[in-house]
This record gives sequence, structure tokens and C-alpha cells, in this order.
Amino acid sequence: MEIKCHKFKGIYQTGNNIATINLVPGIVVYGEKIIKKGEKEYRIWDPTRSKACAAILKGIKKFPVKQGSKILYLGASTGTTSSHLSDVIGHNGIIYAVEFAERVFRELVRLSEKRKNIVPIFADAHRVNEYYWVEEVDVVYCDLAQPDEIEIAIKNAKEFLKRNGYLMVAIKSQSIDVTKKPREVYRTEVAKLKKNGFKIIDKKELEPFEKDHCFVLAKLI
Ligand code: SAM
Repeated sequence: MEIKCHKFKGIYQTGNNIATINLVPGIVVYGEKIIKKGEKEYRIWDPTRSKACAAILKGIKKFPVKQGSKILYLGASTGTTSSHLSDVIGHNGIIYAVEFAERVFRELVRLSEKRKNIVPIFADAHRVNEYYWVEEVDVVYCDLAQPDEIEIAIKNAKEFLKRNGYLMVAIKSQSIDVTKKPREVYRTEVAKLKKNGFKIIDKKELEPFEKDHCFVLAKLI
């Protein structure tokens, strides 16, 4: 199988899939397929398990995560998406990974023992003062599936995101308002970002990978 560079640095294309180079060769994270080429191991990124991957496959204009990036990740769960971002940022980058559910957090801690660029933080993302010590970051990534997700994302970005940094947020319409059409929900949530000083760079609906989800990339001006 041929493997080519994707237009986004640190990401590779193989057929219809994208992949990242395993930072910790020999160790798989969530049962993802591995392709070995010489010294390198490519981890196939599953768009049905990761909204960032789905957004890339849906053609999002820009992917601001690169080698050395500092990321605040809200809603890291067991670390599926974080593990691919950890491959992309490499040893010089860092992911501050916030999660408040104990069971999945334990798995995230195990992942961080192998991937030294992931710092697990057991906290509620509403309470930014519980992780006040996190440094200024290049990217805030938010995937919480909560009704007030955008408010949480804005609060964290205002506290930790550098000027001209990027916010990536996966909006799940069903978590916000089941009575409204998904596009109506996306419009309302995106308007909140604009009102709070974000410039919308791009947004992509994630079907067929994720139903009723929209992935938004915004820049803090
Ligand atoms: N982003 C993950 C991935 O792609 O690998 C999947 C995230 S899952 C959709 C949402 C996660 O956010 C859950 O693990 C949930 O426990 C966590 N979460 C929801 N609200 C939270 C909050 N206020 N603070 C911290 N974590 C939260």
C-alpha cells in the first residue's frame, strides 16, 4: 500500500485513509490498523472514532496542529484522538488532556505513561482554576458532548489560548437541543463564537462518519 504525505504536515495518506507515524512503535492504542514501512509505523486514523480525523477527511481547510504544538484538550476520554495528535506534535509538543470521568481517565493515565507528551488532568473543564498552572497553548481542542460545550470552550480559550491561536470544537447537536434541526443548533453555537472574538476559519458537518456533528475551526483574534 502506497503512503504519501498529506497536505497537512505530520499526516499521511494511504488510499482513502489517513495515518500518523507512531510515536511509540509497537504499541497500539485503540485497536487501530498499523502499516510498517522500514523503521516507521503508520497508525491508521479511524474517522468513526475521531472527529478530528473525520473533519480532515471531510476537507477542512486548515489543521493547526503541528510538530511542537501545545494543546489543551477538553474531553480526552481514553485518548483515541489525543494519541494521533501526540504523534503529530512529537516529543517537543505537549497535550494537556482534561477529563472528568474516572473510568476513562484511568486509561488516559496509562496512555500518558507511554506517551510522555500527554499530561492527563483529572478535572471538570468548567473549573479552569483547577488547572490554572497550564501554560499558554497554541490550540484548544474541545469534544465534550455537553449542552454548554461552547461556553466551556470559550472560557478555556480565554484563559489559556494565545492570541491568534486556534480553537477546534466538535458540536453535537443532540447534546445541545434535540428539538431543533442540527443546522439551527450549529448556527446558534457558531454565532456565540463570533460574538466572543473568534473568526470562523472553517466548519464541516461530519456525516457519514458522525451523525449530527459539526466540527468548527476558529481563530482567537
Ligand atoms: N475526544 C475523545 C476522542 O476523540 O478520543 C472523545 C470524547 S467523548 C465524546 C466526550 C468526553 O468528554 C467524555 O469522556 C466525557 O467524560 C468528557 N467530558 C464531558 N464533560 C466534561 C467536563 N465538563 N469536563 C471534563 N470532561 C468532560
